[in-house]
Order: sequence, then C-alpha cells, then structure tokens
Amino acid sequence: MRPRKIPQRKCVACQEMMPKKELIRIVRSPQGEITIDLSGKKPGRGAYLCGKVSCFKLAKKSKAFERALKVPVSADIYDRLEEDFIRAEDEFQASKELQDDDDDGE
Ligand SMILES: [Zn+2]
Repeated sequence: MRPRKIPQRKCVACQEMMPKKELIRIVRSPQGEITIDLSGKKPGRGAYLCGKVSCFKLAKKSKAFERALKVPVSADIYDRLEEDFIRAEDEFQASKELQDDDDDGE
C-alpha cells in the first residue's frame, strides 16, 4: 500500500506546518470579503491558522493576514474575525473530538 499524503499547510501566525484539517482557513473572497471558512472550500485566497485563539492573537499582532491575503486588513475586520474565530474554535474542537475514538472523555 502506498502511504497517503496528508496535505500540509503553514499557520500564518506561528509558521508551523500542520495537516490541513488541524487548521482553520481564513478566506478572502473574490469580492474582497474576509471570513472564516470552516468548510475549507470557499473560493478565494486562503490563509491558514492553527485552531487556537492564541495563534489568532499572534496573527493580529503581527498583521499576518495582510501578508498572507495581500490586502490591507483593518482593525474592525480583525475584531470581527476574532469573535467568529472564538466561536469557530469551539465548533472546530468539537468536530475534532467527535472523530476522536479515545475513550478518556470528560
Ligand atoms: Zn499557529
């Protein structure tokens, strides 16, 4: 059997390479709107972040989205994304836990 290649992407904040499904995608749509894309399938230019609020805060501080998305990202957009990110993080962690078969749950 051939080993299946797991697509890897780099977190724009901490620069770590991670399997794509461990990362949350931020996308700039062709209309220029910047949103969180939990499906990973929205069209547009994407940037990836670890599913951690600490990485979001790091990205905000270092303006990593501006570099990754090649557009200016205003403080409002960062604030709005941060709220969405915190919500998305819960959902993201929950969906990962569902896939987890370890029975050490709380
Ligand atoms: Zn990261």
